[in-house]
Amino acid sequence: MDNKEKKILIVDDDDTSRSLIRQTLNDYNHVYEAADGVEALAFLQRNPDTSLVFMDILMPRMDGLELLVRLRLSPKFRELPIIMLSASPEDDVNLKATRLGATRFAYKPYRMALLLQMAEDLLNLPRKETDIVPGSLESFIFSRSQAIDSGIIVLEESAEDGTLSTLYFTPTYAMLCGYTAREYNALVSAGSDLLTTIPNDNFDSFRMSVGMIAEEKMPMAFYMHVQRQDRQTLTLSCLGEYYMEKDSGHPLVCLIVDTQELETERGGESELSHERLDRLTGISNRDTFFHSVRRILDEHPDEKYVLGTFDIDRFKIINDVYGTQVGDSILVQLAASTAREVLGKGACGRLGGDVFAFCMREEDFDLEGLLQSQRFLSDNLGLAYNLVIHTGIYPIVDREADISAMCDRANLARSTIKGNFNKRYAYYDEPMREAILAEQEILNDMQKALETGAFVLYLQPIYSLNFEKPVSAEALVRWKHPEKGIIEPGRFISLFEHNRFITNLDHYMWELTCRYLADRRERDLAPIPISVNVSRVNLFQPDLVSDLLSLLQKYDLTPSMLRLEITETAYMDDPEQLITASEKLRKAGFKLHVDDFGSGYSSLHMLKDIPLDVLKLDMRFLGDLEPSSSAATVLLGVIRIAQNLGMVTVAEGVETRFQLEFLRSAGCDNIQGFLFAKPMPIDEFEFFLDSCPIL
Ligand code: C2E
Ligand code: MG
Ligand code: MG
Repeated sequence: MDNKEKKILIVDDDDTSRSLIRQTLNDYNHVYEAADGVEALAFLQRNPDTSLVFMDILMPRMDGLELLVRLRLSPKFRELPIIMLSASPEDDVNLKATRLGATRFAYKPYRMALLLQMAEDLLNLPRKETDIVPGSLESFIFSRSQAIDSGIIVLEESAEDGTLSTLYFTPTYAMLCGYTAREYNALVSAGSDLLTTIPNDNFDSFRMSVGMIAEEKMPMAFYMHVQRQDRQTLTLSCLGEYYMEKDSGHPLVCLIVDTQELETERGGESELSHERLDRLTGISNRDTFFHSVRRILDEHPDEKYVLGTFDIDRFKIINDVYGTQVGDSILVQLAASTAREVLGKGACGRLGGDVFAFCMREEDFDLEGLLQSQRFLSDNLGLAYNLVIHTGIYPIVDREADISAMCDRANLARSTIKGNFNKRYAYYDEPMREAILAEQEILNDMQKALETGAFVLYLQPIYSLNFEKPVSAEALVRWKHPEKGIIEPGRFISLFEHNRFITNLDHYMWELTCRYLADRRERDLAPIPISVNVSRVNLFQPDLVSDLLSLLQKYDLTPSMLRLEITETAYMDDPEQLITASEKLRKAGFKLHVDDFGSGYSSLHMLKDIPLDVLKLDMRFLGDLEPSSSAATVLLGVIRIAQNLGMVTVAEGVETRFQLEFLRSAGCDNIQGFLFAKPMPIDEFEFFLDSCPIL
């Protein structure tokens, strides 16, 4: 590109100075102006293709040095030529600017020809691309560089005696310490800022944190206490990283991500308490977060707030695969990015493990921004693993509720999308509340239901296509609720698997089935084998085989009468254990049925690894069974595989004649479905068998 077409920015608070430079650059077609660092940063963010910047040092709002730090920390602008406009070559500040990455200096009064030559030279330099360093502070700050009000302090360690001095600070940092930028600068010049602001009894621990960051060579969170000018003590959560650019003297850049006022007023507690902050990430811990939210809500009774919680999907895997150090570093960065997001708008904290929470004014809550910053973090971690973060959001309605109850609501919303790759957030709302209440009622009533016999046995006949007769049946539970009527198992089985009540229920159902089988025998009715469902929770119980055998013994039955249905998800959970469990069951004489084959992550491995007797194909998941459809081809293939393995095939959920005929022609052995019979109570089942005799 012709140099005349390149974008040039002049940043100076003095109009005369700006127009002077502009006149010099008369031949250039795209010259822009900004009156301070804030404006300049905003311009550069919109125009990252800018080729040259003239930058004054002393400016209001954000001065040249701060702007320089920010630009050099951002990979996009690391190589951007910057000419500092300095008062004189003697100025001390020039040295700082050089260390922070200034390219050239122009001294007042400007010599126009020189300025022009400098511009032309720099515009001729090839712009190198720099890669963002994944997971580094720079990528972190880069993602936040719009947040111009950050507190940043840049420290430098003397190579000779190891003393720490301040290379640079932002006005916000000075303000956090209770000083104006000018006052703080005076402290810095006297070399006494750190000693003045960090209380004596805390200086060692501050030094230690700094030493640790040097040792670990990665961004780390730490907290420091500062004694403000008004004697109040403030805890600053910082994220620190050494800036490792060549010739930079390796300054330590500390970004303040959160602040906590210590409660000196309460009971004169003047001790610096570490207990208020989370040790790893430096942001609020659970109690402090709860406390802050309560205070925010009380102090702003007329504002609406949202409270959210989020966690990392399968964080344990990250720890296992990459090690806890990487896991910790992710938590630290996530904490820091969240803290930046809520700074000045609300509160955030780590509730424990990988669960974080935040609370913000509804008006300030930028869901898209939050998700974007989470995505950004994930993209820049440099892991061959996509971080999936799920957020649950509770728009606070009941302000008087416990903060922990509010977190529970956000957690509940989050739990509805757990494991879902495509949905990253969920709101807690009325229908969800109702669904959760309904679930709660089920959980409240379950024990009583078991004791009062409200769980009843339904049987669904299984029909042989070869003999055109029922050959067996499946035992299915129904809950006869005194108020709600019949409740289908779809509403409660997974809840019971979750809280393990399924162990009791399954045993109960097996017993009802055995009792019925024995009763038929007593009444001299034709024997009919019945299959029962064995939840994957029970499959891995060590005494499953002995429990089943003693049940059979109690009713004087053989294992051939009680068949066991296990789902393929059990194989997904733990193949090794399933192989062991099924070997034991088969050795004891049980026949194993694979339930719902084709509904989940069908695994041909399972068929290969485990000797199984019956394969139950789930029709509802095969969709359209047009003769030449791929569903038909898959079904044919699976039936063939099962046949070759010597397994009996049962198609479940058969509803139409077309499906029936297709299955018949495909060589499927048995069918179970509404077309033939629905699940029914025992008396109806017997009536049914009377009209349709079994084999
Ligand atoms: P499952 O073991 O696959 O049982 C078959 C399900 O398919 C039954 O649903 C049955 O009513 C339904 N079904 C049968 N034919 C058709 C049809 O033609 N069309 C349609 N749309 N559905 C049909 P149900 O009884 O609601 O049971 C649902 C699931 O709950 C069962 O699926 C099983 O996984 C579980 N379950 C039921 N009873 C028990 C139990 O006592 N213990 C355990 N662990 N799980 C049980
Ligand atoms: Mg079943
Ligand atoms: Mg099934």
